Amino acid sequence: MINFGAVTVVRASLTKHPTGLNHPVKSLPSETFASPPAQEALRVIGRLREAGYFAVLAGGCVRDALLGRIPKDFDVATEATPDSVREVFGKRNTLAFGASFGVIGVLPPKAKKGVADQLPSSPDIADSPENAKDKLLPTEVATFRADGNYSDGRRPDSVTYGNAEADALRRDFTINGMFYDPVSAKVLDYVGGLDDLQSKQLRTIGEASRRFDEDKLRMLRAVRFMVTLQLTMEADTMSAIQEHADSLSVVSGERIGAEMRRVMVQTDAPRGLELLVEIGLADQVWPVLKEATWTRLKAAFEKMPTRSFEIAMATTLLVVHSSHAQAVKDLTQLTKRWKLSVAEQRAIASALTHAPSILSCEAIPWSELQPILIDRDIEAIMGTAVSLAETEHANGLSRAREDLQLEPAKLNPPPLLTGTDLIQAGYSSGPHFRLWLMQLRQLQLDGEIRDRDDAFKWVQSQPEV
Ligand code: ATP
Ligand code: MG
Repeated sequence: MINFGAVTVVRASLTKHPTGLNHPVKSLPSETFASPPAQEALRVIGRLREAGYFAVLAGGCVRDALLGRIPKDFDVATEATPDSVREVFGKRNTLAFGASFGVIGVLPPKAKKGVADQLPSSPDIADSPENAKDKLLPTEVATFRADGNYSDGRRPDSVTYGNAEADALRRDFTINGMFYDPVSAKVLDYVGGLDDLQSKQLRTIGEASRRFDEDKLRMLRAVRFMVTLQLTMEADTMSAIQEHADSLSVVSGERIGAEMRRVMVQTDAPRGLELLVEIGLADQVWPVLKEATWTRLKAAFEKMPTRSFEIAMATTLLVVHSSHAQAVKDLTQLTKRWKLSVAEQRAIASALTHAPSILSCEAIPWSELQPILIDRDIEAIMGTAVSLAETEHANGLSRAREDLQLEPAKLNPPPLLTGTDLIQAGYSSGPHFRLWLMQLRQLQLDGEIRDRDDAFKWVQSQPEV
């Protein structure tokens, strides 16, 4: 069917037809197309081509493949109009995704219910056990288009269908503006993306100032790509962001949060945060960054044991704020603006509170350390503590690490008494129960009360309530 041999890169000129130029440059690694979503995108392209429509892979997946990274999703671009796409695959096998932008979702074979979450995997491309749980999502097929005016600072008011070249020109950055034709194994580059990818430069397609004026989110995407792909920013692109930075305010906090999640999980995140300050975006994104001490933050990110959004957030908040209370207040604001999930907020808050305790825990009683070690967010707490520790062998860290190795019955022994035990022993329940049980737990953990009999004796010794 489709041959994926050596790849030819076509540096398409803006005036000539791209297929007239054949410059072999480099091969895409074969693993690029090994995954089920890649195979599915190729199937979709194959069907469109058989029906007589030019269709290619587009944008981020081409960029990632050329960088030797495995793309996470594979978008298809085609000259077929959305109606034609639906005709080729049959209406019931498609979803009108972003119909106003000409994007159609094509369902994997045998998935005819039309509801994404009911999609069974295709037997011929997705029959391995891991695919059984990772159901294939519909492939996004976008008709080549040119964007009309932008009046809301985020999305075009209208689109007109066009050719591949026009479609490349409406994309944001040169590295994101390339196509890959799997039939001829050629990369189509109308925008100089290959050169920029080679020199690791981020540059807008067309005039930078106009492109950021059209869509303000592109400014933050620029920072994200710089950090995730370790790029430098071309000078005009940088000064255009500085010029437009304040207008990022039209972008929703939730969109900002989505980009920041992706920045924060990179080792290089501090460079991205510093860049936000340098190019004037910090006021709109995270104002306290303007007070950060970058050497401290960079050192903390280098020590971070796992790349996790929660650990990165807690670490940053603790480094940039001078007090715990301010860090907590900032977290409350970011939770609202970036729409953090309950679990994210909880883990970050636990790490803010407990990571400093871990670092100074060598002298605290077990009854204070133990509840931290059994906290459900202990991973975030320890990760933050490790990032903030002066040395890898900080005393508090060593104790916590050792204690975390305790067998479960030692780390978290069952309580000596419960409320039910007290009721059965004839005590009438009330608010004092909670206090007794808490005090008993503390005494138990600190080894001062060792069995049920002693626990009951202690209860009997309590003043009447
Ligand atoms: P990733 O999937 O890793 O986030 P991506 O480049 O694929 O990166 P998407 O948001 O999936 O990003 O968008 C797919 C493609 O659509 C991009 O590569 C780019 O060509 C184009 N694109 C996305 N957002 C914009 C935008 N705001 N302005 C112009 N073009 C965009
Ligand atoms: Mg993508």
